[in-house]
Amino acid sequence: MSAPVVVIGAGPSGLAAAHALARAGKRVVVLEAAGQVGGLSGSFDFAGFKVDYGPHRLHQAAGPEVLDLYRAALGGALHVRARSGMVHVGGRRLPYPLSLLGIARGLGLTEVAKHGLSAVLARLRPPEGNHFGAEAARRLGRHAARVLYEPAARKVWGLPPEELDAALGRARVQKGGPLAVVRAALGRGGASAGRRYFYPEGGCGALAEGLAEGIRRAGGEVRCDAAAEGLVLEHGRVRAVVAQGREVPAESVVATVPLPLLCGWVGRPEAAEGLGYRALTLLYLLLARDRGTPQDVHYFADEHLPANRLFEARNFAGGGGPEGRTVVGFDLPCSVGDAIWRASPEELTTRVRPALERTGLAGTEILGARVRRMASAYPLYRQGFAAARERALNVLSEVDGLYPLGRSALFVHDNVHHACSAGLAVGRLVADGASSRVWRDRQKPFLETQIED
Ligand SMILES: Cc1cc2nc3c(=O)[nH]c(=O)nc-3n(C[C@H](O)[C@H](O)[C@H](O)COP(=O)(O)OP(=O)(O)OC[C@H]3O[C@@H](n4cnc5c(N)ncnc54)[C@H](O)[C@@H]3O)c2cc1C
Repeated sequence: MSAPVVVIGAGPSGLAAAHALARAGKRVVVLEAAGQVGGLSGSFDFAGFKVDYGPHRLHQAAGPEVLDLYRAALGGALHVRARSGMVHVGGRRLPYPLSLLGIARGLGLTEVAKHGLSAVLARLRPPEGNHFGAEAARRLGRHAARVLYEPAARKVWGLPPEELDAALGRARVQKGGPLAVVRAALGRGGASAGRRYFYPEGGCGALAEGLAEGIRRAGGEVRCDAAAEGLVLEHGRVRAVVAQGREVPAESVVATVPLPLLCGWVGRPEAAEGLGYRALTLLYLLLARDRGTPQDVHYFADEHLPANRLFEARNFAGGGGPEGRTVVGFDLPCSVGDAIWRASPEELTTRVRPALERTGLAGTEILGARVRRMASAYPLYRQGFAAARERALNVLSEVDGLYPLGRSALFVHDNVHHACSAGLAVGRLVADGASSRVWRDRQKPFLETQIED
């Protein structure tokens, strides 16, 4: 019997690839380091609630082929929900998605005029510079860049906006400029206006669980607690994956591990020099009340508030869970080994107190806490990252039978639907016997994503 295709990583991208391969009749084995599938978009149980790793929603911008995949994995358990967020910035509160009334009430007329004027000026004389701050200013005006995007950038990525590449702005700042913001505020602009989203019954992780189930039904294997530790290469071709000290023979390997690690595995660690990731610490608090706030997510743009967001599991799921209890989560961007990364649940609870105060939850009894840590949450788009990424991906394409895939290996800011779309594309290519170089030639659209927030 020929060796299987081995997929490393059971996040949405790896599972979508494995799903396509299994459906095409290929033998496939998925190796997952964690004890469960889902990767960054998995879910776990806490006090009777299903909670996600950070606030996760499935965006309606997904194309038809990805929507088919969602339906295959989830059947009738995919629900449409309305968003109900709140942005907190400089002591002001703005309901999100934006409405014209919400903008006028939340910001006040003087602030609205400042944004409008600076957006018009940015159109007439676009700010120069190939960095995140300049790109945000070109898109929405210097004022929005200064009060909203630049402080958020320093907090989320831990770097001054001038050290971050303009590509980060292209991926993450509303495209289409102020007119697009006004259209969205009027409830127009199609799926990208983002007023509604898909959410699976049983948490976002139910998508990965459904995909894994489909792979097993089609004859494939999904092994958890099975971290890949390296590759075995022979005459420039991948022959096996090393996992738990043993060799798993492989016809080809689809790998969703961090790009620098993968370059190390093929003996070329220098190819990924300069590429690194921003980490995330997640704190979850079990509160003694039915519901925290009516919002699903509170966004904190201010730099001095260490939490980036407060999110409530119950409000994503549209109810459910035990009575008299609710779980709120906080995502705190950090770097591996820093004070936030090492903080105890008690220390983290102290750090998020201002966020609890802003949302009226400070006096609520806290019944329990959980902490989760993610070392490679965000590829860090430093200035010059694109050239380093090109170099690293070119080196990997020289290894026959090796296909880098997903957020960490393609080093891309993406959403679940981008990850699934890339996974389906790779699955099809590998099933058709296309070479690693063909995949390299087709990667471009998957490296230039526009994030839905
Ligand atoms: C805080 C946060 C919020 C987000 N919110 C949204 C949202 O609302 N909507 C949305 O669409 N997207 C959202 N995203 C993005 C989404 O999480 C990603 O697009 C998606 O998870 C990427 O899937 P992936 O399979 O490429 O990578 P991952 O999800 O990172 O999966 C990679 C998998 O590989 C495994 N792995 C790594 N190394 C090894 C190894 N050596 N051996 C075996 N397995 C290994 C990991 O354990 C993991 O399971 C969010 C991301 C973050 C960080």
